[in-house]
Amino acid sequence: MELNVDVAVLGAGAAGLAAARVLSNGGASAVVLEARERIGGRLLTREDIGLPVPVELGGGFIHGTAAVSFDLLRAADTVAMDVGGDSFAYEDGALRVREDPFEIVAAVMARARSLTNDVSIDDFLRSLPEADPQTARERRYTRMLVEGFDAADPRRASTLALAEEWSPGDEGQTSALYRPVGGYARLLRTLHGALDAARVHVRLATPVQTVRREADGVVVEATSLGEPLLVRAKTAIVTLPVGVLQAAAVRFVPELPTAKHEALAGLIMGPVVKLVLRFRSAFWERVHDGRYRDGGFFHRAEAAFPTFWTTLPLRTPLLVAWAGGPKADALARREQPALVALALDDLRILFGTDPDPHAELEASYAHDWQADPHARGAYSYVATGAGDARAQLAAAVDDTLFFAGEATAPASEAGTVAGALQTGERAANEVLAALRR
Ligand SMILES: Cc1cc2nc3c(=O)[nH]c(=O)nc-3n(C[C@H](O)[C@H](O)[C@H](O)COP(=O)(O)OP(=O)(O)OC[C@H]3O[C@@H](n4cnc5c(N)ncnc54)[C@H](O)[C@@H]3O)c2cc1C
Repeated sequence: MELNVDVAVLGAGAAGLAAARVLSNGGASAVVLEARERIGGRLLTREDIGLPVPVELGGGFIHGTAAVSFDLLRAADTVAMDVGGDSFAYEDGALRVREDPFEIVAAVMARARSLTNDVSIDDFLRSLPEADPQTARERRYTRMLVEGFDAADPRRASTLALAEEWSPGDEGQTSALYRPVGGYARLLRTLHGALDAARVHVRLATPVQTVRREADGVVVEATSLGEPLLVRAKTAIVTLPVGVLQAAAVRFVPELPTAKHEALAGLIMGPVVKLVLRFRSAFWERVHDGRYRDGGFFHRAEAAFPTFWTTLPLRTPLLVAWAGGPKADALARREQPALVALALDDLRILFGTDPDPHAELEASYAHDWQADPHARGAYSYVATGAGDARAQLAAAVDDTLFFAGEATAPASEAGTVAGALQTGERAANEVLAALRR
């Protein structure tokens, strides 16, 4: 089969769908080619009967206050709810209320901004003066957030890129954290539903194999529901995850320019293992005389899963177990029952064995993003010395190939759903301008 459109969009994740909506509103014709049999990419909401709230196996939080997230919530007739609850850290054999790590890490990053040469965040933390009584605490919290929040290996992550991400003001990372009521599925449905079906449509089960740049546009070769598909388009928007591009799962003819390969070499797909556990009851609310009844987050640095969170402000019997960066690497290739066993061991240390978390367990849910050939990791971070990799990846090639996706977002939004949505809109506006030329 052959299709002729203005724009071929590769990938129907947050970036691809956001791009498609702008193209649709702008009067262009487009086809979104998606390898999976579903939209959403690294957003994957389970809405089973019997689940008290939608369960997010990929992205779940809204980070920061980016207008794009809140405009979309309005369009979806829903709202964001503040992530609630106290934070506890396990230190010296007990869980204690923890101070805000974001403020501590932001202060460390403020000092890192004066670096003239980039180093890994591990080297930077080692260079901090030992005599300073605050240093041990700052190192611990910075490592915790770099690994757990950025899904990065401190030995490989760029200090300057992290410092930019954490710079204060509107552009910087903040501790503002929300969840979309109804889950991300609701926002994705709104994006999808907003497409003008006469001009823009999404083809699922359509992995792209080759993107050819020709004198008058691009020719995209794909397989659609098992049949060969050829798409002739004036331009293409590539929203593929960094891991997919690095694996050369899609062939570009002619080869992408050297700058793109340099950009890809400067970005790393961070690993995350996220396990959602459903219990008979929210047993942690009852233990230790109800001390953790309003607990939102529980940390233990040495654990297999260093972070657990509840669904507060909604009280449900669900806990999310989370490991990022090296901690996720350590869990690689383990089957779900083995991951569940490790998470239950961690919970026994946090909350004891009366009741035993194992006896309370009803079900578990997970998706292996590292083994997923269409994701190849959770989200990107910048390698030491590769400060402009994101901007380089975002740059258009010959006014024909345009790039979007979380990895192409500015530092403060990179890696997030908000970043992916923004870059999709940015690339679609670039395309509309190119089509007018
Ligand atoms: C476990 C986990 C937890 C996360 N938590 C959060 C969070 O709480 N908050 C937050 O903001 N972000 C979070 N993120 C990150 C967020 O989910 C991503 O940054 C965002 O969804 C990426 O969107 P995207 O459109 O850039 O990429 P994707 O969603 O990956 O979209 C790219 C699409 O391309 C498709 N594709 C791949 N290969 C091909 C091919 N050959 N042909 C055609 N299509 C192809 C893929 O199937 C995919 O649908 C999390 C991610 C993970 C994995």
